[in-house]
Amino acid sequence: MHTIATPEHILQSIFGYDSFRHNQKEIIDQTLEGKDSLVLMPTGGGKSLCYQVPALCLPGVTVVVSPLIALMKDQVDALVLSGVKAAFLNSTQSNADQAILSEQLRNNELKLIYVAPERLVGQDKQFLHFLQTIPVSLFAIDEAHCISQWGHDFRPEYRVLGDLKEVFPNTPIIALTATADAVTKKDILLQLHLKEPHVFENSFNRPNIFYTVRPKRGYYDELTEYLEAHKNDSGIIYCLSRAATEKLASDLVEDGFQAAAYHAGLEKNLREERQDQFLKDEIKIMVATIAFGMGINKSNVRFVVHVDLPKNMEGYYQETGRAGRDGLNSDALLFYGGGDVIKLKNFAQIEGNEEQTKILLKKLDQMVQFCETKRCRRKYLLNYFGEPAADNCGSCDICSGNKTLIDATLVAQKFLSAVVRMNEKFGAGYIVDILRGSNSEKIRAEHKLLTVYGIGKDLSKDDWHHYAKELLYEAYLQQSNSEYPVLQLTEKAKAVLFKGEKVFLNSPEKQVISKEPVIFQQHAYEKELFENLKKLRNKIAHEENIPAYIILSDSSLLDLATYLPIKSSDLPNISGFGTYKIEHYGAAFLEMVQDYCIEHQLTTRMDLKHPQRKKQIKVVKERETETKKQSFDQYKKGYSIEAIAEERGLSTTTIENHLSYYIGKGELSLDEFVKISHQELIKKAAEKHGRLSLRKLKDNLPDTISYGAIRMVLNSMSLNE
Ligand code: ADP
Ligand code: ZN
Repeated sequence: MHTIATPEHILQSIFGYDSFRHNQKEIIDQTLEGKDSLVLMPTGGGKSLCYQVPALCLPGVTVVVSPLIALMKDQVDALVLSGVKAAFLNSTQSNADQAILSEQLRNNELKLIYVAPERLVGQDKQFLHFLQTIPVSLFAIDEAHCISQWGHDFRPEYRVLGDLKEVFPNTPIIALTATADAVTKKDILLQLHLKEPHVFENSFNRPNIFYTVRPKRGYYDELTEYLEAHKNDSGIIYCLSRAATEKLASDLVEDGFQAAAYHAGLEKNLREERQDQFLKDEIKIMVATIAFGMGINKSNVRFVVHVDLPKNMEGYYQETGRAGRDGLNSDALLFYGGGDVIKLKNFAQIEGNEEQTKILLKKLDQMVQFCETKRCRRKYLLNYFGEPAADNCGSCDICSGNKTLIDATLVAQKFLSAVVRMNEKFGAGYIVDILRGSNSEKIRAEHKLLTVYGIGKDLSKDDWHHYAKELLYEAYLQQSNSEYPVLQLTEKAKAVLFKGEKVFLNSPEKQVISKEPVIFQQHAYEKELFENLKKLRNKIAHEENIPAYIILSDSSLLDLATYLPIKSSDLPNISGFGTYKIEHYGAAFLEMVQDYCIEHQLTTRMDLKHPQRKKQIKVVKERETETKKQSFDQYKKGYSIEAIAEERGLSTTTIENHLSYYIGKGELSLDEFVKISHQELIKKAAEKHGRLSLRKLKDNLPDTISYGAIRMVLNSMSLNE
């Protein structure tokens, strides 16, 4: 196909980025060759560039189908700000406006046109026929999962897109989605009638999101503490009910936060207004039901909080995924409490549909397990979506060691005994008073005679309250649903009291929910300058009446505050500064950096930039661990992988992974494990698809080849390099 510029050139000059991410380049090449493809990439992965770059390389117009007006407007605004001729067509426009657009299309003056599916194919296919009269280079179907009934967001109007291929048999289609599940994926290919499509899959890991789960009881203080520490940041708080969003938003406003509620019950105008204010950072915190989010492309959402338990992992992944599209560190914080589980279990009961009920309950249970796990949360999440993951991600509450588990058996025994002695008729406050031997008048005389009275004097009141929360959280205790909630023992507690079972709880030492940015930034940045740059960006955004993140992303500002460019020739090397943005905004930002450098006697750090850019892939050196060594020793003694797995209560994949470490070190021979013919296949696939995504390799190999085998071959390859 005839192209007018190279993808690299477009990437640098228009978008201001210096290299492609993941498999963007492959996807773009495939599209430029006129082939169909389906792109699965997590939110924030960079799907848009996969069709925007081809759109600018190809001679005609690219038609982008997108489900939401807000989303279209955002994308078009961003493109226009990069100097790209783009527009959208929707029902809110006047006939005159639409006529102008048609004229522009006829004259091939637009590179991208965004339309809603019903606009594209509706009204007797009028628009579709019009498109047949002009040079259309490409169709991009965004949020392609909307076409599938199996997806989580089926939109019947997407179904009409099935006709596209018939009307435009020679125009490539690129379908994009952030949905991973296999059934939906197949359905998209089927419904769109894609021709020999290439499916590009990426890892669904969101490395810049830090996952934390905290006990729900008394969460409000912890939440406000968190928000206080993130006052300049923007985020979403999800609640289950409309009423809860209103209540929490008004509490937060009362406590001095810029928050507002959002739910489907609000009047349309108000909803739109609030969404707009959120995009423009005039509302920092949106307290919302899950009705809020799909149309939100805002790249600098720094945190997503769930104060109520999501119904399933799919929802959780999708909602938390709205944080950190710009790649900077962001938080996913969930407040988890047993009460929600009971509530959601009730919701999951679908009368007359036992099967559906069972599925919903199972999904809920998996969500609960995520909250209760003592292992890496990222691993749980990725495994849930069928993707392998390392045991320790280093950036969830569990792995980061924010949780320090201590042997709290004695403390637990004291507390639980007190609950028993009080006949399970009192709340935590009273029990703590008893344990600490309080002289308060509230304490009944007969309680002062109990053996548990005063046995907990050694700990502070706060510590006892902390342990009470932990015991509830770990389900040693449950709270009654009565007006004055009292503490009651669970089966689990009985094992502690009567069978001497040990209890491990988090220590009461203050936990830090999250650290300051930034993982991807290897160098320190000037904090004050970063904040000032944000203010400057906000000012420009306000004057031009567009959201700030569209002018420049947070990561561009961070780049400025890190590398301190002081010459205009430095700007093209700052992420996000394409030609158009340099021309329009370069001087203002440069000036601010220059002034800051003079005032603080700093010089530019642009020289740090280049070596860092080359090194984009973080290579984590694998280390020997006790568990790997055990597997190795047993294998050496002659046990089979299956036998070791069985004995150790681990999966065979895990054992294979352990052993592959020793293959990488040259201490075991690959040939013992993987057939030569399979080795060849895996090596070929690795050359073709790269070595970064095991999953991708797996998908491109016969089913009989296991993840373990792939990993072993990759390790042996790196040994020979
Ligand atoms: P998605 O649609 O997959 O959720 P976007 O297309 O909105 O993700 O991209 C997320 C962010 O990453 C955007 O700010 C985008 O400009 C940026 N981005 C995309 N590709 C690159 C790249 N190759 N280099 C730097 N930034 C990129
Ligand atoms: Zn982890």
